[in-house]
Amino acid sequence: MTDFNQLYRKAVLTVAGQKTIENLVRARGWGMAQRFVAGEGPDTAIAAVQELARDGILANLDLLGEFIESPEQCTAFADNVLKVIEAAHAAGVTPYVSIKLSSVGQGKTVNGEDLGLTNARRIIGRATGYGGFVCLDMEDHPRVEQTLAQFRTLVGEYGHDHVGTVLQSYLYRSEADRASLDDLKPNLRIVKGAYLEPETVAMPVKADVDAAYRQLVYAHMKAGNYVNVATHDESIVEDVKMFALAHGIAKDAYEFQMLYGIRRDLQKSLAAAGYRVRAYIPYGRDWYPYFSRRIAERPANVMFVLRGMLKG
Ligand SMILES: Cc1cc2nc3c(=O)[nH]c(=O)nc-3n(C[C@H](O)[C@H](O)[C@H](O)COP(=O)(O)OP(=O)(O)OC[C@H]3O[C@@H](n4cnc5c(N)ncnc54)[C@H](O)[C@@H]3O)c2cc1C
Repeated sequence: MTDFNQLYRKAVLTVAGQKTIENLVRARGWGMAQRFVAGEGPDTAIAAVQELARDGILANLDLLGEFIESPEQCTAFADNVLKVIEAAHAAGVTPYVSIKLSSVGQGKTVNGEDLGLTNARRIIGRATGYGGFVCLDMEDHPRVEQTLAQFRTLVGEYGHDHVGTVLQSYLYRSEADRASLDDLKPNLRIVKGAYLEPETVAMPVKADVDAAYRQLVYAHMKAGNYVNVATHDESIVEDVKMFALAHGIAKDAYEFQMLYGIRRDLQKSLAAAGYRVRAYIPYGRDWYPYFSRRIAERPANVMFVLRGMLKG
């Protein structure tokens, strides 16, 4: 049986996908989006990194942009990611970025090779040169297979200290994917999953997604791999702390990750208690899809948008 949370998420993402709503929110919503997005360019993003560093919170930079159409635009997008890597390095920050392979050309063949892979190599190569790290975000389910295959290729080339990826606990396939990647000793971010997915591939009941989340984290920890526990769910955060303690897993064998603008109080208190905490900092002009997913995660966020729209 589908539960309220899933129905709510589906309703918001369906409405947000309508062009008239998108145009309205795009025209009037930038002020509201700034609760979740650190400005439009590398400068504001790096300023956010430095501000979080004062609270002992690490950063993961994410240039917004999804489903970009032409190969030229994809390569231009990758060039902009290189710019933020350079800006981070120049500011004395070890570059840590996330990319969506769809934005750098996944699925488009140029010179006989997948453009996403070509551009990912440029980005990871540059970050690696500065001792940095690139995480391949996970998108909607039709992209999972290719993303994991490309991740395998890239870990082979750059090593698990420089490239990681994401598993979504709402997908039935994720535990099998985790096990199949184990030989790579991969650095994985575990999330619940943010896309509107059919019940044929994703669990419709939130309690099942939460249970699968814990199992993925625990299995990856027990296998001795580095885990990015990416959630704002405080009961999971507490359970993971207890699990690590009970299994003798050191605080530097995993980290908590949360989104910019969400549960900053929890981010600060975990960092103050000596846990590694990293905030995912999105920036850029193409904020609408990211913003819609954040609104869909929590009923109170819809009121925030409606109030913002009424204020105009
Ligand atoms: C660092 C990071 C990276 C991510 N990368 C990906 C990715 O690559 N692919 C992908 O599909 N998904 C990604 N996500 C999103 C993820 O899949 C979830 O949609 C999102 O994290 C909400 O789930 P939750 O684990 O916080 O738990 P929930 O059960 O959804 O929320 C738990 C509690 O957290 C708080 N909360 C959660 N969301 C919000 C919000 N938007 N606004 C205010 N409070 C909120 C509320 O208090 C809520 O009760 C990422 C999330 C994080 C934190």
